[in-house]
Amino acid sequence: MSPSPVQFTRGVPPEEVLLVDELAKITTEVLAERPTEVFQYPRIGGNLGDERLRAALAARHGVDPRQVFVGNGSLQVLDLLSQLLLGPGGGDVVVESPTYDRAGLIFQRHGGRVLGVPLNGDGLDVERLEALVARRRPAFLYTIPDFQNPSGACASEGNRRALVDLAERHDFPIVEDTPYRRLRFRGVEQPALSELAPHRVITVGSLSKVLSPGLRVGYAIGDPGLVAGLAELGEGTYLTPTPLSQAVAARCLELGVVDSAVATAVSFLKPRHDAAVAAAREAFGDQVVAEPGGGYFLSVLARSALPEPEFLAAAADAGVRLARGSAFFPGGLPDGRLFLRLPFQALPEAEFARGVRLLADVLTR
Ligand code: PMP
Repeated sequence: MSPSPVQFTRGVPPEEVLLVDELAKITTEVLAERPTEVFQYPRIGGNLGDERLRAALAARHGVDPRQVFVGNGSLQVLDLLSQLLLGPGGGDVVVESPTYDRAGLIFQRHGGRVLGVPLNGDGLDVERLEALVARRRPAFLYTIPDFQNPSGACASEGNRRALVDLAERHDFPIVEDTPYRRLRFRGVEQPALSELAPHRVITVGSLSKVLSPGLRVGYAIGDPGLVAGLAELGEGTYLTPTPLSQAVAARCLELGVVDSAVATAVSFLKPRHDAAVAAAREAFGDQVVAEPGGGYFLSVLARSALPEPEFLAAAADAGVRLARGSAFFPGGLPDGRLFLRLPFQALPEAEFARGVRLLADVLTR
């Protein structure tokens, strides 16, 4: 019998890092402590999110609670945010190339013309970005500076400083998406863009990768005017985010459960990351885009004359499933290249190594 396919498809947390018993216990406590609140429509103002959750997130980010908006997952927050920033007339949205495919599709849906700027191992190509924004001011720039999905790249401090400096000079807002930021296995933390330019940067955060994706808790941090605008759009779409999930998330933050979940995830994922980097280097050498040092993803920009559909079909025949690499490039893949997103978080080391060897064989046939 042939082994089951190696799945390099989704960035889902491995079950081993979900603190299910702890979450169940806290849910029971929340049900005892706040039963009417979590089963009722929230009070007036609840469209901004649960007050205790907003206070806990504000404390964590060193901001005022009036700067925190909570939605049902960060993808929904990105949806509302792009609606607000683009307005009825649409506009240009500059993204990294490659970028998170779902975000790009959301921006397009709200009338955004999505323009990609090449991303290197240490961040966006700032010269290319400058050439682009000098011609026309974008509605906003969307970036994932830490352990990017899909490439794994983590922007250097110098690159971050150059980026915010450029945004200041050309006067456009930056949306910084940070779901993997706390999942660092190697190296030192880089400053968040919001730390470098608090008034220029809107931070989008998520508890999906540091607590539980099933709770669907995502948030934005910006000025109170922007937060009110998001709340109004949210209220018109779903009234309020889900009270029970938010109450559980609030208590988890208050009790330090998010910190212990991060510690569990980091110690579980670090060996997988290190083994994945070694296996990918052995199979693909300098075609590996970056050694991430954190997060879920590693990626390869492979030199190949194979058209993508044929490559994916050959990979599937060899027993490897991959996301379509071109989906991450708003302007299409660079010529003569294929892009392989290799999530390492959910695969045991040997399985990951088997997958990359099979892919390397397909590419050298
Ligand atoms: N942004 C990025 C960069 C992601 O990788 C993801 C999840 N894969 C999301 C946003 C959405 O996360 P959620 O809606 O679960 O908060």
